[in-house]
Amino acid sequence: MSHEPNLLPELRLKRGEDRRLSAGHLWVFSNEVDTARTPLPGFEPGALCRVLSDRDKFLGYAYVNPHSLICARILGRDPEYPPNKSLIVHRLQVAQSLRRSLYDQPFYRLVYGESDALPGLVLDRFGDVVVGQIATAGMEARRADIEAAVRKAIEPTAMLWKNDAGVRELEGLPAYVEPAFGDIPEFVDVEEGGVTFRIPLGGGQKTGWFFDQSANRLALRKYVGGSRVLDVFSYLGGWGLGALRAGATEVTCVDSSATALEGLQTAAAANGLKPATMRGDAFDVMEQLHAEKRRFDVVVIDPPAFIKRKKDIPKGEAAYRRLNQLAIQLLERDGILVSCSCSYHLEPQQLLAAIQRGARHLDRFAQVVEVGGQAPDHPIHPAIPETRYLKAYFCRVVRD
Ligand code: SAH
Repeated sequence: MSHEPNLLPELRLKRGEDRRLSAGHLWVFSNEVDTARTPLPGFEPGALCRVLSDRDKFLGYAYVNPHSLICARILGRDPEYPPNKSLIVHRLQVAQSLRRSLYDQPFYRLVYGESDALPGLVLDRFGDVVVGQIATAGMEARRADIEAAVRKAIEPTAMLWKNDAGVRELEGLPAYVEPAFGDIPEFVDVEEGGVTFRIPLGGGQKTGWFFDQSANRLALRKYVGGSRVLDVFSYLGGWGLGALRAGATEVTCVDSSATALEGLQTAAAANGLKPATMRGDAFDVMEQLHAEKRRFDVVVIDPPAFIKRKKDIPKGEAAYRRLNQLAIQLLERDGILVSCSCSYHLEPQQLLAAIQRGARHLDRFAQVVEVGGQAPDHPIHPAIPETRYLKAYFCRVVRD
């Protein structure tokens, strides 16, 4: 990689197209590039460049993917510091210092992409093991530098690449899971509020654990004393086992994944907790529970993203509406609904509308008593709306 800034090729923007970058966003879309002056096919996927306005203003160093709609992402704006391993080390140190100030234990999202000025890179820290996810060709091209920077700044004993997310296809990247260095244990333990969860590293979902919901899962605890709790889309039981620890009398966890529910029961036994589990499609299981006239004092719905792309919005909104109605239907009088969505494309107002419509349909209304978002290890970049995705509404649902 070149360390000499002036040797990096230029990427020219069209007139007026520097506005988003100047406002702090990190993305360049392919239609904003002056392709007459700097044709995109002239760049290799992942190559570094200098982004310039039509008037020669230096806007930052970026990496390019000529085949992607987001054709460049800014890595740094200081002309003195072209992107190299030292810059990544620096970014990791800055990211780590935030998490250290927030958490007692080294279990957190260490790097949250754009919000930590490392676009396209996610790193989760599980004690001595780091799990990484790369979403872009630009970060893939820097893989060796990232590994070296992690060794230097974080010093874990092992690091795993969990590069199997669907978004990689958009960048023309293959899916793979492989160790970067060190011996990867099959499981690591994560402690959350007095419950120890057993996280499968290679075979789990996403990086293995959903750190983004940790603050909301802890917030649930004050609602569950003496309650019957239904945890839908439970994965390893983050909400449900936490509720049992906090004094829930009965917890039922629902997930379609047999592996997740096995892991949940293993962790439950190790923690001396006794949840019930039901395996199946959440919609079917909730219908079935309703047919059996089962009722719960607290229902948590934490589904996977139903809306991955803009075109999924109408279908996705319908799914959120149906799901919220099914959940409300299972609630005891004055019960608590925790309704979550991790779909960036679902506006907060639309999730509220789904809750409201479900309640109205059943002659009830909802009182939102608490609003949650992603935990602080997933900071929001104010100029990049895409970095804010998680919504959690805690509602009491009462008779009209
Ligand atoms: N609540 C979890 C995270 C949930 S992730 C936590 O706080 O850690 C979403 C979960 O939904 C996954 O475990 C996945 O297996 C499950 N899932 C996806 N589609 C489903 C469906 N249709 N019915 C039931 N579970 C489903």
